[in-house]
Amino acid sequence: MTNSNMSDKKIAVIGGGIAGASIALYLSEIGLKVDLFEKGTSLVNGPPICHLHAGGNLYREIPDEQCVTLLHESIEALRLYPDSVDYRPTVIAIPAQDAGQPLDLLPRLSLLQDEYQKLIDKDTNNKVLGEVTDYYRLFEQKELQALALLDEHKIPKTAEQWMIPFAKHTDLSLVKFPVVLVQEFGWNVFRLGATAALSLEKNALCNIHLNSKVTKLQQNQQAQWQLHCIEEDVESDYHFDYIINAAGFKTGDIDDLAGFHRDRLVEFKAAYVTQWQGTEGLWPEVIFHGTRGTPQGMAQFTPYADNLVQLHGMTDKITLFEDGLVESSKFSSQPKLDASFLRKIDKGWLEKEITIRGQRAIDHLSQYIPAFKNAHVAGKPLFGAQQIPGDDASLRTAGISFEGNNYARCEIVKASSVLTCADALTEKLAELGFVDQHKVGARLFPITDSIEDEAITERSELYTQQRGYPIALAYRNIKQS
Ligand SMILES: Cc1cc2nc3c(=O)[nH]c(=O)nc-3n(C[C@H](O)[C@H](O)[C@H](O)COP(=O)(O)OP(=O)(O)OC[C@H]3O[C@@H](n4cnc5c(N)ncnc54)[C@H](O)[C@@H]3O)c2cc1C
Repeated sequence: MTNSNMSDKKIAVIGGGIAGASIALYLSEIGLKVDLFEKGTSLVNGPPICHLHAGGNLYREIPDEQCVTLLHESIEALRLYPDSVDYRPTVIAIPAQDAGQPLDLLPRLSLLQDEYQKLIDKDTNNKVLGEVTDYYRLFEQKELQALALLDEHKIPKTAEQWMIPFAKHTDLSLVKFPVVLVQEFGWNVFRLGATAALSLEKNALCNIHLNSKVTKLQQNQQAQWQLHCIEEDVESDYHFDYIINAAGFKTGDIDDLAGFHRDRLVEFKAAYVTQWQGTEGLWPEVIFHGTRGTPQGMAQFTPYADNLVQLHGMTDKITLFEDGLVESSKFSSQPKLDASFLRKIDKGWLEKEITIRGQRAIDHLSQYIPAFKNAHVAGKPLFGAQQIPGDDASLRTAGISFEGNNYARCEIVKASSVLTCADALTEKLAELGFVDQHKVGARLFPITDSIEDEAITERSELYTQQRGYPIALAYRNIKQS
């Protein structure tokens, strides 16, 4: 395969979320011509991403195998998008009334620590979560009580310093011991979108079609695709050699257009933006485990700049919604969400919905951190519908699948799976002769690597403003691990 015929092949990516934008970025960086179609006005403007699941420790219910995959994929994603990561740890606490035991978490943490070491042995550039010995640290009651007497830090440097706000402000009588601190970092969706957009805009091999909704797909005998779309209100037709469906929770609609069937679930969820002037120092993320879908579902406290805190509460009244999880049928690959969810996605939330659910999220969290009661709702929720291929709603790792000739889906559950998808896709494209074999898994991103932190911040500020969120969501508290 030579460079000259490589660029003859034309690839369409449908959907400019983190999956489609990252696939377009990957393929155009290795020399393929890509057209990216996004029906919205900017890239990566779908459901939120706030946590880099480097070990899957938020999910007690998933198998170890998925946690190991999440660790690998998160390290890879962090290496691709380092300036989108807020390098602060996560505290994991088990409430006293929960059936789980903290010591049940330990075998998995130890497995993840070993896996992290193996990844570093393979490539020292994988050492992005700090020292292996520091991957997690346990805190017993006595140590937390002692830490509660110390001053909080504006920029915590040690595991102990990170634990001070938690020790000081959590009602320690309500949690079991030990409490875990783990190196799962924050992930900023605005910065992620900004990095991908800036890279793609700089790459002459990528055509970005914004405000372009794909409405028809047709394949001819030679396996070439005709793609019909409404682009800025104008109907247009294009021809492509390969179609990649990365349409997020609308993946089923594109499958229907292409004539392929797949079972999948779609789930609508929301997180709430609050502001809390409560404390002096910088907080880690904090997770209070709980059984999903019950009134004591997991509570997640995700800190941002300017005392902003994003909250999840895994109960039907906060993050989850009655009838928010729907499945495809034998007639359509697209699960049908109720109109009330589509109205939120397409037109926004009513003020009273924001206030009621936001306040419930504050109440849920302040069971454990009483002073958090003073927080207030500080904007519209971060929300959306996400796709889950198959019929297992607890699946957290998923990726690429192929159908017929020259059609792939990149159907991710967590954003970190994007590079695994891109590698598998490149392998397929190499089999078809679209790209040189030596490019498979090469992962060279000269254009993306050249994007400056300042430019990312500037673009992220613009996205927060355009999308109606507080500007401080564009920033991160800690730039380096
Ligand atoms: C509340 C919540 C919290 C979450 N938190 C995290 C987290 O902390 N960490 C994490 O890793 N993941 C998280 N997720 C999951 C994460 O948001 C998704 O995995 C990710 O956004 C999926 O990206 P995507 O590119 O597949 O889909 P999307 O972001 O939905 O992108 C699909 C794009 O396709 C476009 N599109 C659809 N149809 C068409 C068409 N016909 N023509 C053109 N364009 C089309 C859409 O406009 C959209 O922009 C969370 C999800 C939710 C709901």
